[in-house]
Amino acid sequence: MASNRNLLVLPGDGIGPEVMNEVRKIIAWMGKKRAVGFDITEDLVGGAALDKHGVPLSDDAMKTALEADAVLFGSVGGPKWDTADFSKKPERGLLRLRKEMDLFANLRPAKVFDALVDASSLKPEIVKGLDIMIIRELTSGVYFGEPRGRHVNAAGEVEAFDTQRYTAPEIRRVCAVAFELARKRKNKVLSSEKANVMHTGVLWREEATKLHKEKYSDVKLEHMYADALAMQLLRAPKEFDVIVTDNLFGDILSDEASMLTGSLGLLPSASLGAPDATGRRKALYEPIHGSAPDIAGKGLANPIAQTLSYAMMLRYSFDLGKDADMVETAVENVLKAGYRTGDLLVGNTDGVKKVGTQEMGDAIVK
Ligand code: ATP
Ligand code: MG
Repeated sequence: MASNRNLLVLPGDGIGPEVMNEVRKIIAWMGKKRAVGFDITEDLVGGAALDKHGVPLSDDAMKTALEADAVLFGSVGGPKWDTADFSKKPERGLLRLRKEMDLFANLRPAKVFDALVDASSLKPEIVKGLDIMIIRELTSGVYFGEPRGRHVNAAGEVEAFDTQRYTAPEIRRVCAVAFELARKRKNKVLSSEKANVMHTGVLWREEATKLHKEKYSDVKLEHMYADALAMQLLRAPKEFDVIVTDNLFGDILSDEASMLTGSLGLLPSASLGAPDATGRRKALYEPIHGSAPDIAGKGLANPIAQTLSYAMMLRYSFDLGKDADMVETAVENVLKAGYRTGDLLVGNTDGVKKVGTQEMGDAIVK
C-alpha cells in the first residue's frame, strides 16, 4: 500500500512494548478492512536504546523522527536504568524528541467512559459525560527559562531560582492550537494564567485576547486564574471544554483532570509542533502513563491509553477522523461489555470480565 503516511513506532521500555503490540493488531486490522496503511519504521528509545547504543535515543532514530509524519511512542524508564547521570536517563530520549521536534503544544484529553462511571469511587453525577481537552504549553515557561540554578547569596544563604519566561509568539502559537481545536469541538476556549500576580500571566492574557480578536472571534474565549480553575475543575468539571495554559499550570491541571477519569491506563496524549508549508505538524502520540515497572512483563497492562493515542494520531496527523471514531467506539464497547484490566477493577466489580493485555487488545479488534 503506497502511502505518504510515514510512522515511527518507538515502544520503549517496561509495558511500552506490551501495549504497543496490541496497537499493532489494530493497525493490521485497519490495513486490511479500511485500506488505511502506514509505512512503519520501528526504533529503540529509553533504556532499550541505552542498552544497545549507550544513549537514550540514537541520532539515527532522531533523524527518522524528524522525517516521519507522526511518532507513536510507548514509555521509557525503569529501575534497571536508575542513575544520577543526567545524560544516561531513559527520559532524556523523550525530552530530546520533544525539543528537536519543537513539540510545543501538549494535548491532554480527560474523558470519562460511561461504562466506568458506576464502578467509580468518584461522584458519578459530576463526571458522567466529562470530556475536557487541556492544552499545555510544553517547551517554554519556568521549566526552561534562564537564569535558573542555585548559589549562596550575599547574606550567605543557599538560594535557588527559576525563571518563568514567555515570548509573545510562544503564547500565540499554543493559543492558536487551542482555538483551532475548539472549532472542531464546542467552539469555546478557556485560557488560564495568573495575571493577577505574574507578568507572564498579563502577557499571556493580552496575547490570547489579541489573537482571538484578529483570527478567532467566532470562538468563545474566557479567562480564569489557574488557582480558581484548579477549584472549578473539581467542583464543576463539565463546564469546561478546551483549556489552554502554560507549562507549569498545565502540568498540574492536566494531572488533576486526569484523575477525574478513573485510571492512568486509559488516557492518551498528543504533542504537536508548528505547521509546515503544507499545514502538517510534527507530532508525537503517547499514553500519559509511564513504563509501570511493577507490572511490566506480566501481561497485565491496560493497552487502552496506547490505543487511544493511536486514535489521536489518526485524527490529528492524518485527518482520519472516522477511523479514529471507530477505534474510540471499539474501546467504549469493550468497556461496556465489561472487559477490565486490573487497573480498572475498582468499586463494584459484579459482572466484569477480568482480562490481561492481549485479551483486552483482542476484544478491541473484535
Ligand atoms: P513516569 O515517571 O514514567 O511518569 P510513574 O512513576 O508516574 O511513571 P507509571 O509508570 O505511570 O508511573 O505507573 C504508575 C502506576 O500506575 C503503577 O502502579 C502502574 O502499574 C500503574 N499503571 C500505569 N500504566 C498502566 C497501564 N497501562 N495499565 C495498568 N496499570 C498501569
Ligand atoms: Mg509520572
